[in-house]
Amino acid sequence: MHPIIPGIHHVTAITANAQKNIDFYCGVLGLRLVKLTVNFDDPSSYHIYYGDELGRPGTIMTFFVWPGAVRGRVGPPQVTSIAFAIPPEALNYWFTRLADYKAEAVERFGSAAIHFLDPDGIRLEIISVSHLSGQPWAGGPVPTEQAIRGLHSVTISEEGYESTAQVLADVMGFHSAGNEGNRFRYRAGTGDDGAHIVDLLCVPDAPRGAMGAGNVHHIAYRTPDDPQQDTWRKKIVQAGLNVSPVMDRTYFHSIYYREPGGVLFEIATDNPGFAVDETPDKLGTKLMLPAQYEPLRAEIDQIIPKVRLPGGLTIPAAP
Ligand code: ZN
Repeated sequence: MHPIIPGIHHVTAITANAQKNIDFYCGVLGLRLVKLTVNFDDPSSYHIYYGDELGRPGTIMTFFVWPGAVRGRVGPPQVTSIAFAIPPEALNYWFTRLADYKAEAVERFGSAAIHFLDPDGIRLEIISVSHLSGQPWAGGPVPTEQAIRGLHSVTISEEGYESTAQVLADVMGFHSAGNEGNRFRYRAGTGDDGAHIVDLLCVPDAPRGAMGAGNVHHIAYRTPDDPQQDTWRKKIVQAGLNVSPVMDRTYFHSIYYREPGGVLFEIATDNPGFAVDETPDKLGTKLMLPAQYEPLRAEIDQIIPKVRLPGGLTIPAAP
């Protein structure tokens, strides 16, 4: 069996301030907070997940919270921009809504788009797409006709794009979809309209990036299940790349490898998803801890920064 990567699973970035991050991604972009948990490697800090109403793969943006972290430098080799999909008639609505976030009109392969910055300086785009596949989150402040339908694409900046392109095309099954100047577009195997585009931006003269707040940490691609993930793992080993063992991330299972240009890639399973430990109607309303940290909940509540959630609840919850 030859597995296919259907597209992007999630993108994970770093914020210095959990409250500003929640206020922006829920309050301005209108995404749903689908999970509030801790960094599995550092339970004193949050890991926040946003998405559509279920946090379906292809709609997920996640953040490690490094409180007070110094701002990093955006540059190669990093994911330097993340694009969300909206309906074409929603473009003017978003121009007005994003006026305070340095909104600028851009065009990407013939599609009208808005480039803007999140509160940590992360470069985001909203791109109008005529054949939308995702579901809008109806419980947020943005009317559903205008709402974000999920991720559209990412831009990866590299000093030279060829070795990354080779891994995307020869190992991961992406297809070249042309270029606009130094922007080289690749599409995932199935080629539908949701979250399946990776643009490689070749910037040989740009200063190298440095990881900190305001940077993307890694990008994850989808695989439907554990057996296909195992096939991918073998394929990546055969390609001569170092790949991690399978890690249980509670909401998906993950393998990680660094592509030859230097960006951290992950392949994550679609299952089990965010409803594994909360019912769909209650997603993101409590601080969820993985089993190994549940005995430490009282201590974690003492040290983790207080945040106010979109519905007005506060975390940690009052005892
Ligand atoms: Zn990840």
